Amino acid sequence: MAEFYHSVTLNESKCVGCTNCIKRCPTEAIRVRNGKAVIASERCIDCGECIRICPHHAKRARFTHLSRLSDYEYNIALPAPALYGQFNNLDDIDYVLTGLKQMGFHEVFEVSRAAELVSEATRKLMEEGNLKRPVISSACPAVVRLIRVRFPDLCDHVLPLKAPMETAAAMAKAEAVEKTGLPLEKIGCFFLTPCPAKVTDIKMPLGIEKSMVDGAIAISEVFPELSHKMDHLDSVEPIANSGIIGVGWATSGGESAALLNEKYLAADGIENVIRVLEEIEDERIGELDFIELNACAGGCVGGVLCVENPYVAKARIQRLRKYLPVSQNHLQGGPIPQVMGWNGSLEFSNVLTLSTDLKEAMQMMVEIDKIEEEFPGLDCGACGAPTCRAFAEDVVKGVCRKTECVFVYRKKMQKVASTLSELEGEAAILPKEGEN
Ligand code: SF4
Ligand code: SF4
Repeated sequence: MAEFYHSVTLNESKCVGCTNCIKRCPTEAIRVRNGKAVIASERCIDCGECIRICPHHAKRARFTHLSRLSDYEYNIALPAPALYGQFNNLDDIDYVLTGLKQMGFHEVFEVSRAAELVSEATRKLMEEGNLKRPVISSACPAVVRLIRVRFPDLCDHVLPLKAPMETAAAMAKAEAVEKTGLPLEKIGCFFLTPCPAKVTDIKMPLGIEKSMVDGAIAISEVFPELSHKMDHLDSVEPIANSGIIGVGWATSGGESAALLNEKYLAADGIENVIRVLEEIEDERIGELDFIELNACAGGCVGGVLCVENPYVAKARIQRLRKYLPVSQNHLQGGPIPQVMGWNGSLEFSNVLTLSTDLKEAMQMMVEIDKIEEEFPGLDCGACGAPTCRAFAEDVVKGVCRKTECVFVYRKKMQKVASTLSELEGEAAILPKEGEN
């Protein structure tokens, strides 16, 4: 297996090397080299920002295709609540769920059902008082990966609970085994995903050894056929079994509102997320109990694999919630089921550090500072790096040369030209042959 799996990849034939994407990347994972973008695999958190920004559609997300359903005898769709926000005038979730069954899924298990359980489990854990405050949600895999590579001191603030997608898959499979008598390996669970980070999370999960989800199909992939099926339903099956609390997870603020605790903060959009994480790191957010962070603007409805404008989708979810009960899924008494918790803790991944040898890292830092002074500080991106500092780092690491900076190159050329003209001047005042 490859060391890193990523949903986000480059379609090299479409990349024109315009450098638009390099500045948007929250982990400075992209460089433009030889006219093409290159993603440093170890740094990428699959947030999808580069897909959103690329004007040439050269960045894309890999996801599971519908044809994979034939790999299993019994298929279960796990729709993310963000799916409901893609449809205009939807006032009954059962239209969506019945439509999915018409598409070929044998069963549909709403992720919002599991979200209600995760909300209850979170409340319970917070009441026990053993979690490090402020507790940071583990629901957005791009945020968890960002913390893992950029915020080592915050790793132990992350809520040690699986995201609703995983709990939904475990519950759906258990129900299917009981219903069909089939062995687990003949049952396929497919998450209908709003974002590439979830695709990666299934292949390379954090906090658990192996995902129970067998594939992640983009919402944009199912949308056309699903809309068609929904428009031609003869009858609607009563499948929906979640409420305001579960469906609310589709948008920013939904998860924290479900905690029934006023000391929370919900931020969305990768830049805001970074700002909040920096403030927690600097201990400037002391009074809050819970932090909900979503890498995409608006929350999951803002994922790059959705089809609708996130704010329109958010308004639709708000409208839809009016028709729902508060919550329909509850934990039994006693401890939180083991299946909902992480198996391990979040480990810091030092992919952004200069060297594991402290002395060497310090020397490199000094060198970077020195080289950076030679650059104009414009962060123009013409060198292919997002900032002059990142470029100086690349030079020190030996992956490029200083003269790839147009300003350094121009200065060097000017120096060569003036040396040449000085030499020419000297030659002109020297006596020619025969003179004397
Ligand atoms: S935005 Fe990035 S990926 Fe897209 S064309 Fe420009 S350099 Fe290539
Ligand atoms: S997906 Fe996000 S982290 Fe990965 S290269 Fe694109 S912008 Fe950077």
